[in-house]
Amino acid sequence: MAILVTGGAGYIGSHMVLELVDQGQDVVVLDNLSTGFREAVKAPAKLVVGDIGDQDLVATVIKKYGVDAIVHFAGSIVVPDSVADPLGYYQNNTVNSRALMEVAVASGVKKFIFSSTAAVYGNPEQVPVSETAPLAPMSPYGTSKLMTELMLGDVAQAHDLRYVALRYFNVAGADPAGRSGQSTPRATHLIKVACEAATGKRSHIEIYGTDYPTEDGTCVRDYIHVSDLVRAHTAALDYLNAGGTPDVFNCGYSKGYSVADVVAAVKKISGVDFSVRMAKRRAGDPAAIVAGSDKIRATLGWEPQHDNLEEIVSHALAWEQQLDVVKQAS
Ligand code: UDP
Repeated sequence: MAILVTGGAGYIGSHMVLELVDQGQDVVVLDNLSTGFREAVKAPAKLVVGDIGDQDLVATVIKKYGVDAIVHFAGSIVVPDSVADPLGYYQNNTVNSRALMEVAVASGVKKFIFSSTAAVYGNPEQVPVSETAPLAPMSPYGTSKLMTELMLGDVAQAHDLRYVALRYFNVAGADPAGRSGQSTPRATHLIKVACEAATGKRSHIEIYGTDYPTEDGTCVRDYIHVSDLVRAHTAALDYLNAGGTPDVFNCGYSKGYSVADVVAAVKKISGVDFSVRMAKRRAGDPAAIVAGSDKIRATLGWEPQHDNLEEIVSHALAWEQQLDVVKQAS
């Protein structure tokens, strides 16, 4: 029996693979390496290079490795890119997920974990936002993920497939042991961008919007350490293995930090006073979004271990610094 991790060569997926391998599970990764890295998948996990939309390939992989659960990370994740390229996002996140689900059902895979997003809520009326809040994505990215959640709901009704959809808030940080981190070139996510500025890879960073209806005028997000997020997935797998029914959980700490708070934390931890420019709002950004996390704690027994912005930043920074060392050595 093996677990298929789609997108396992990417940022979050590679951390998941490390955790599953640490648990002694058999893992096979399917990744087209469009944003992932071959080196991120370390033995004994196996890497198959290909698309999740390639149904013949997926069926072959499921059969060859005896896959009985799929953890589906592969997808596109940049909100402003989705505004510029909605059809690309619907193809990659929605159409290809449908293709993957179809093979899962046809091949008899009964457990499915899906990487969803807080973006399904749009700009929630209340924060922290609970899983029962209205779903009103503000970007094609959020809609593309919500459509997959809806499909999974229908598929689970019709077929013998149980799923957990995890709605990620803002994932950041790196493996505390330094084995993986975020390596994406042309990064757009705030903590990564700020760490790049702190390590001299960028001359400055921009804050997108200072006129939001928040305490300091910048957007508020709930930043979750990638290791805690991974443990939400292993808890979800345990839940499905124990016969758990299909469900949806927020993944966040129920704590909000503004963009200005994050920038201050990166400056403090790095000791570098990099340049910060105020810029106009970015398309598709909600003002404030913070996770209600009661449900995941109660149902999956999930308890965070790295619920600390400075720890998240210090792990992200350590990874950024070691990326420089690797680059200089090569
Ligand atoms: N942000 C920013 N400057 C940057 C990158 C991001 O001001 O260089 C802001 C962005 O507008 C949002 C927050 O930081 O309010 C988090 O954005 P990110 O792209 O990290 O994640 P998202 O919430 O879009 O998934």
